[in-house]
Amino acid sequence: MHEWALADSVIASAIDYSKKEKLKKISQVNIVFGELQNIDKEIFMFAIDELIKTANKVISSSKFKISDEPAKFKCKVCETDFTLNQVKKSEDEAEYIHFIPEMAHTYLKCPKCKSPDFDLIAGRGVSIKSIKGVK
Ligand SMILES: [Zn+2]
Repeated sequence: MHEWALADSVIASAIDYSKKEKLKKISQVNIVFGELQNIDKEIFMFAIDELIKTANKVISSSKFKISDEPAKFKCKVCETDFTLNQVKKSEDEAEYIHFIPEMAHTYLKCPKCKSPDFDLIAGRGVSIKSIKGVK
């Protein structure tokens, strides 16, 4: 259900953009999927395919391309940037963090100063990176 709501808002945002930019047709929507989210890509793409059939014609023949963005953290104490791979402990914990990003603070520590106090600066959620269209 989450995937459908998300697909719906991606399509709505793309249509809004096309109106703003006065596009006759949207040819490609580039979407970024963060490493830390619990969206099923297959269900999401299926939802997109179904929803564009009844959406505004401007988007009905658009392609949707998904790229992945790795999670990135920044330590609040020593300002070191680090990724999930640098601190990943066991397979189970990594899996857990993927489904519940809030768990990151329980399982991860800064690789340099060992502080658990850090911000997630990339790799969360789903966003539209760019939209291509014909004027
Ligand atoms: Zn640190």
